Amino acid sequence: MDYRYLGNSGLKVSEITYGNWLTHGSQVENDVATQCVRAALDAGITTFDTADAYANGAAEKVLGDALKSERRESLEIFTKVYWPVGPKGVNDVGLSRKHIMEGIDNSLSRLQMDYVDLYQAHRYDHETPLEETIQAFADVVRSGKALYIGVSEWDADQLRRGQELARQAGFSIVSNQPQYSALWRVIEEKVVPTSRELGISQIVWSPMAQGVLSGKYEPGKDAPAGSRATDSKGGQDTIARFMDEQTLTAVQKLRPIADGAGLKMSQLAIAWVLQNDNVAAALVGASRPEQVAENVAAAGVKLDADAMKAIDDALSGVIER
Ligand code: NDP
Repeated sequence: MDYRYLGNSGLKVSEITYGNWLTHGSQVENDVATQCVRAALDAGITTFDTADAYANGAAEKVLGDALKSERRESLEIFTKVYWPVGPKGVNDVGLSRKHIMEGIDNSLSRLQMDYVDLYQAHRYDHETPLEETIQAFADVVRSGKALYIGVSEWDADQLRRGQELARQAGFSIVSNQPQYSALWRVIEEKVVPTSRELGISQIVWSPMAQGVLSGKYEPGKDAPAGSRATDSKGGQDTIARFMDEQTLTAVQKLRPIADGAGLKMSQLAIAWVLQNDNVAAALVGASRPEQVAENVAAAGVKLDADAMKAIDDALSGVIER
């Protein structure tokens, strides 16, 4: 496993990071979740990403249970705040001081930890003054309950203003967590150049386009049993944007490119996002331990210019920019 620095900070994270959206506390049983976490640790993954909103808090609890006996200093734990968990009170959402202060305590209690390494704003809050949010994050850092602050899906202007206020408050935003894959390249135009300038890394989600770039969904055929495209608890809906015939047909053209590089298609997809030096980590999900082992082999892979060009050509027409 290779490790990369998060933004301009001294924190190293495993370039393949394990995320538990839609799986822990939902699609997969707790014993399988624990096996996936074990497989991740065995493969050198030290960084784990979750959120208060995943499975209404259950994902944090399952991850905390699975990591309980590990040495805390050897782990980097990321969680997020924004959306409500459980019964909805008017202040159970967004990035107000109240919700951030209550959110961190509730997350730590579910994770059964004294601190998280990275506390992330899951989205930008257009209703709360940014100054209030940033001051609350500064206080969370000062309290020691989170060591670093990140954001998720913020645009270039929001990152710029957020970083300016954070520096005035005595800390830096070290990361942004956007969607990024060979099929979804929206951040390349503005977010990545601005982040480079501001010392912010990307921790990218759905690098495999939720499993689609593994090539297992073939046009005109039923989705494999047990896959996200068959998950009625939410997976089926979120993956739908990539399940059209044109996209699935284009994705199959990646198979010979992966073969030529001696990689599985899943590994090619993960390696592709890691070629971007503003990406600190690919946030990869898994529903089975074998997937974790397969995906981790993408760490450290270098794709040459011919392979990168062939990927662009294969997917041209279905890339979101
Ligand atoms: P991926 O694109 O990595 O998709 C993971 C899914 O693909 C797995 O659950 C599995 O689903 C399938 N898969 C994994 N490995 C393989 C393989 N080798 N071969 C075939 N299929 C495979 O990422 P996710 O969409 O799961 O997102 C990753 C993480 O990103 C999340 O857990 C979360 O931490 C973060 N995230 C953050 C968001 C944000 O707003 N900040 C939003 C979404 C995610 P199956 O076996 O069921 O088909």
